[in-house]
Formats: sequence, structure tokens, C-alpha cells
Amino acid sequence: MEKVVVNNYGSFDVTFVKAKGSTMWDINKKKYIDFIAGIGVNCLGHNYKPLVKAIAKQAKKQIHISNYFFSDVGICYSLDLLEQTGFDRAFFGNSGAEANEAAIKLARKYGFLNGGAKRNTIVTLESSFHGRTLATLTATGQDKFHPDCFAPYPVGFKTIKANDFESLKGAFDDTTAALFMECIQGEGGVNVIDKEWAQAAAKAARDAGAIVMCDEVQTGIGRTGTFLASDALEINPEVVTLAKGIAGGIPMGACLFRGKAKDVFVAGDHQSTFAGNPLACSAAEIVLAVVNNEDFLKDVVNKGDYIRNIIKSWDLPIVKDVKGKGLMIGTQIVDTIKPFDIEVKCLEEGLCTTTAGKDVVRFLPPLTISYDEIDEGLKIYKKVLESFCK
Ligand code: PLP
Repeated sequence: MEKVVVNNYGSFDVTFVKAKGSTMWDINKKKYIDFIAGIGVNCLGHNYKPLVKAIAKQAKKQIHISNYFFSDVGICYSLDLLEQTGFDRAFFGNSGAEANEAAIKLARKYGFLNGGAKRNTIVTLESSFHGRTLATLTATGQDKFHPDCFAPYPVGFKTIKANDFESLKGAFDDTTAALFMECIQGEGGVNVIDKEWAQAAAKAARDAGAIVMCDEVQTGIGRTGTFLASDALEINPEVVTLAKGIAGGIPMGACLFRGKAKDVFVAGDHQSTFAGNPLACSAAEIVLAVVNNEDFLKDVVNKGDYIRNIIKSWDLPIVKDVKGKGLMIGTQIVDTIKPFDIEVKCLEEGLCTTTAGKDVVRFLPPLTISYDEIDEGLKIYKKVLESFCK
């Protein structure tokens, strides 16, 4: 593969050929339990029949039409999504970074309309991750994502420390357009943002005339046990961005607006060719119907607690903490062991995991994962962690 694609992922030498539920098989028929769901994307698992059927049905009707026109499935999905999330308007894109670019542009325009050209700063959090485009990289509060080779980076971003009340002092003023934050930092290490701090930060931002925007690309679509993680923080953001699980594996992103952010964009302000096409919307409609259900979300909470409690019960000396919420799970490992080495060993043993931050092994399994698959995956995980304790 390295001969045909740019070598920018450092992919493992594993080629998958089929999958069902939270189990995948490679080209050599080796079985793997999937604890990462394509980095939090396959929220309904693999080969989820109603999703497959909906996509096939829509493909026969119409795959794409452009945003010069409306589609029946696009209208229905937008109405359902907005009604169920309590937002007023949606912009659709194709990825998390694209959804976040829309949010950043909207914040800039909001600032311009409500304070002039000087109100353009977007405040983000240390250890955050917002994407790989230049603006979203700059918004990302981790120096390792800002190498000199990609400079110059866009201006108008500043970071503050999460969960630190001191950091709020003087953080927002008449140059601030928006506070932009993840509700749980995924790539940064599965760092949970305290509700009290999030509410204080949101208030401080709004007192200074800024809006509040949540990057729910990873935390949204039921991942943490509420459809939106910001619902649990009770900060009522004016903007929420979504992607990853939104269409169960079909590329899609969304930026939702309400209140002061509702009417900021007008025709021509922001566009995208593929965005919200009928195929993606048909998949997203199934995901919304399945995931935004009280019993389903309760199950996500229970399965997440089950996994965290089991890992804690092993009481292994190399595990410092087990973090996260719902099915966003991080095992913090002692500094002497690289989480990547654990990821590699897990893969060898038939378990797909990923890492986060500098010391965390991260799980983002399909939300539909069965307890049998969880137990099978955890059996492998325990064996691997124990091998690092010797
Ligand atoms: N924002 C967050 C919180 C993410 O976790 C990610 C991806 O991991 C992104 C944005 C970027 O999403 P994408 O890779 O779809 O552009």
C-alpha cells in the first residue's frame, strides 16, 4: 500500500475484508474485536442491517444532487435532527474538520457583526483537538500539531487551561468571538471537562459578548451516553459540530446553530459540494432514530461503566486511572510504558484499540457492542496489560 498512497498514516500491516457487529476479519481470516469503530465512526457497528438497507435503497433512488436543490431525505433528516437536538439551523459538511471550519467562520462573522473587526479571537482549550486543516490545527491546543513546516498558521486563536478557574480570569474580552471546546477531550487524552468549570467558562465568554461552541465531533451522537455531550454539561452552546458517528460510516459532518448564531450565515457565506447529500442523510436518519432513544443511551452508559469497572477491578500496577464517560474510555498508563506499544500488542492478539494524549489507551467501540464482544475484548486487553506488568 505504501507504494500507492501517501505514507501519512503509518498504518498497521493489517488488511480487513469483512466485519459484523463489533467483530472484524482480516485477509488471513484472523478475527479481531473492534474497540475503536473506525475512530468512533461505526456507532451502529459493522453491517448493521437497517443502515445497509437504507443506504442501498437511497443509492437506487439518488445518491447526490448538489446543494443547488433540496432532497426529500435531506429535508426530513434536517427537520428531525434540529427538532431532536433543539437547534434552529444546520450546515452539513463531510468531516469533523469541515464542520469545525464552518463553526470558526461563523464565529468570526458573529464577532464582526457584534463588535467589529477586532472581535475575532476564538478561545480554545489546552490539550484540545479540532482537526487537520490549517484553521482547525491552529485551534488545536497541542504544540505537537503546530510544526514549523506548516507555518504560517492563521491568527486569532488563543488557548486556556481546561478545568482551571484561574485560567478564566481575563480570558475573554471585547476581542473574543467565541469559546470553542470539546466536552471530553478525545485525542488529548480522554480528559473529562468538569461541568462546573464548563458552566463558568461559558458564562465568562457570554458576559464578554462571545458565543459558546462545542466540538462534538467525537463526543456527539450518543458516544458519552447523552445524544449530545453538551446536554449533560448544561451550557446550551449556540453552535455544536458533529461528524464521526453521525451517519454510521458514511462521511458526513454537521454544524448546528441556534440563538444568536442562528441567522449569521447568509447565502454564499459557506458551501460544500458533497455536503448533506441524499445518501449521507439516508444513513444519518437511521443513526438518529436508533441512537437518540432513552433505552439505547442508557445502555451506552451501562456498557461504559461495565468496561471501566472491570479494568479498575484488575488493579494492575501499570494502570494509573480509567477515564471517560459512556463508551469513550481511556486507560491512563504509567509513564514508563508507551500506550502505542500496548496498542500494537493488542492488535497482534486480535483487539483493535487506539491511543490518546501521551499516556492513554483509548476505546471508542461501536455503541451497539454486545456484552459477549466486550468480554472477549477485555480478556485480550487484560492479557496484554498483564504482559507489560512483568
Ligand atoms: N474534532 C474532534 C474532537 C475530533 O476528535 C476530530 C477527529 O478525531 C476532529 C475534530 C477532526 O475530524 P475529521 O478527522 O473528521 O476531520
